[in-house]
Amino acid sequence: MIKIHDKNFELYLTEKEILDAVRRIADEIAADYKDEIPIFVGVLNGSFMFVSDFLKHYPHPCEVSFVKLSSYRGLTSTGIVETLLDAPDNIEGRSVIILEDIIDTGRTLQELVHIFSNTNVKNFRIASLFYKSEAYNGEYSIDYFGMEIPDRFIVGYGLDYMEQGRNLRDVYQINKAHMINLVLFGKPGAGKGTQAGFLKEKYNLKHISTGDVFRYNIKHNTKLGQLAKSYMDKGDQVPDEVTIDMLKDEVEKNPEASGFIFDGFPRTTAQAEALDNFLDSRDMQIDATIALEADDEVLIGRLLERGKVSGRPDDQDEAKIRNRFEEYNEKTAPLREYYKAQGKFHSVNGIGDIDEITGRLASVIETLC
Ligand code: 5GP
Repeated sequence: MIKIHDKNFELYLTEKEILDAVRRIADEIAADYKDEIPIFVGVLNGSFMFVSDFLKHYPHPCEVSFVKLSSYRGLTSTGIVETLLDAPDNIEGRSVIILEDIIDTGRTLQELVHIFSNTNVKNFRIASLFYKSEAYNGEYSIDYFGMEIPDRFIVGYGLDYMEQGRNLRDVYQINKAHMINLVLFGKPGAGKGTQAGFLKEKYNLKHISTGDVFRYNIKHNTKLGQLAKSYMDKGDQVPDEVTIDMLKDEVEKNPEASGFIFDGFPRTTAQAEALDNFLDSRDMQIDATIALEADDEVLIGRLLERGKVSGRPDDQDEAKIRNRFEEYNEKTAPLREYYKAQGKFHSVNGIGDIDEITGRLASVIETLC
């Protein structure tokens, strides 16, 4: 297992397995092009190692050039492919074979075809060392490929994760086994904090309570804390991007966690979308959203008891408590629909012994393991 930035990766393909695949592609292409001098065009940055080993195995005369495209940020394709270095000059009438490190969705390939479509080459073929057949859009046929691989993020042998890992001789696959990310919902007094405490121990999860994260950042006067405070001081809502940035920091600070419990966020569908986008960029996802349900009257009783001990003014006034419940109902209703549409919403009875409730939550989580 190796760690790059915030992620753990496990060995997936050894140098020997990779070089065998490179050799197979070189042999196949050599058989097809032995009577002419093709131009191989490597796609930077990722393909530099593949191009180098490929050329060492290619037995006939050939030329080499590069184009440079970029579409990835972190672990996901941005969907926008930029051309940073264009097609070589003087390729009219020549046979061009693209050497790609990996074909994933096929967007980069689409851009390559577009770049070469105006160049009057004699023929244009595509060779890719790795090919994620499940993710590929299938628009163009791939003439040569070394290995079909599953739709999981890999690094090494030229491929990077946030610019690191390109120098690895072997290829590593992201380790996302057993990661469980939960959103915990519940009205004030429903026992979210107590239950999150048990769940994080049981499943090695990190509990991210937005309230705590805000308080921490403001207390330690971090840049994000100062920014959040500047809005709060004016009585304005802290923008979602600031909150998401704080959550990102929390996720990145805890690479060893087997998952996260998000508590207090998202509160709106826009925030749920922002959270999904952020997790997606880390090849993570929300696995389940669990609402701890309890009857309002029971909760009011609990909160008033709590208020007597804690002295928290908002736990001592029944009218204020009812207002908080109304706000919860209003805001979380669309979120329920959002997560129901993704098949991720679970409702758990929050009344009973603490152990009993932990058991109910655990039985939902166990279906995800
Ligand atoms: P596509 O445009 O086909 O979605 O993606 C092609 C480009 O995305 C590749 O040239 C590569 O830069 C990057 N890419 C796709 N899948 C992976 C992967 O699993 N690992 C890494 N490091 N990059 C990838």
